[in-house]
Amino acid sequence: MTQPDLRDPRKLYKTDGFEKQDQPTPALQTKMQPEPDCGEESYQGHDKLLNRRVLITGGDSGIGRAAAIAFAREGADVAIQYLPGEEADAKQVAKLIESAGRKSLLLPCDLKQDGVAADLVDQTIAAFGGLDTLVLNAGQQISQPSLEKLPIKQVQETFQVNIVAMMAIAQAALPHMPAGGSIVTTTSIQAYSPSGHLMDYAATKAAIKNWTINFAAEAAEKGIRVNGVAPGPIWTPLQLDQGQPIEALPKFGQDTLLKRAGQPAELAPVYVFLASNDASYVTAQIYGVTGGGVIN
Ligand code: NAD
Ligand code: MG
Repeated sequence: MTQPDLRDPRKLYKTDGFEKQDQPTPALQTKMQPEPDCGEESYQGHDKLLNRRVLITGGDSGIGRAAAIAFAREGADVAIQYLPGEEADAKQVAKLIESAGRKSLLLPCDLKQDGVAADLVDQTIAAFGGLDTLVLNAGQQISQPSLEKLPIKQVQETFQVNIVAMMAIAQAALPHMPAGGSIVTTTSIQAYSPSGHLMDYAATKAAIKNWTINFAAEAAEKGIRVNGVAPGPIWTPLQLDQGQPIEALPKFGQDTLLKRAGQPAELAPVYVFLASNDASYVTAQIYGVTGGGVIN
């Protein structure tokens, strides 16, 4: 008899004892112990995004990298934006996109700078002949012990990267996007259940959730769907680049129902679904991939 393919979600991946580790900004995926799983060896495409022209912000590592790999294997050309210091991670992603038989485009830039949005959109359109799918995923997360210790400059920069730049990129992209196009944002469980040490970050994630639902109405008039993904604790460079207090790393993710951190590869199918025609009646929604944290 053929056995069913069942995988116990509690036992997939490493469940505890992440090494305490720290990296200077920007943290690199290749220097993590263990390296996150972004589906490099496992993701199988089924032409769900055939000939799409995609821009993914923060596509060099973590969740954005998992989306980039999956989208390319689903048949899309993929441009990734990332910080200039993340070239090593980004080059690996470009190789993975190309080995799926698709075009890649590398767009290094710092979203703290004003005026980069139009350039990202223009370069993607010049390389691929259009832009129909946008994954707004870049984000900054810097842990601080209290409001008293939270530098206001950090608050401004977190809002600049996570909110202002995100809206600017969507604003630049929208006039070029055709009906049937899709925008996927990345919010967080932090939008619903905020941690005291992530006050500025959690507030941006709540704003992303709010904006996703709000903007979906305007985009719907053009036949474009807008949805968000709310991840729980996922093992990515974000967590090692001051994203968590170092002493919290060994137990990272263990307070979820599944008692482990998630891996970026476990997010990719949700990004693919929301971007694809399969989600034709899905807009203004937030999908949770949290290991059990409730998002409503
Ligand atoms: P990541 O570090 O791999 O990705 C974040 C990316 O954002 C970086 O690779 C970088 O390219 C980009 N970025 C950060 N600051 C930038 C700046 N100033 N200019 C340009 N680009 C910049 O980590 P990730 O966890 O995959 O993060 C992706 C998204 O997922 C983020 O929006 C994050 O808030 C969200 N998220 C992550 C988790 C988690 O536990 N890892 C949980 C909820 C939400
Ligand atoms: Mg990165």
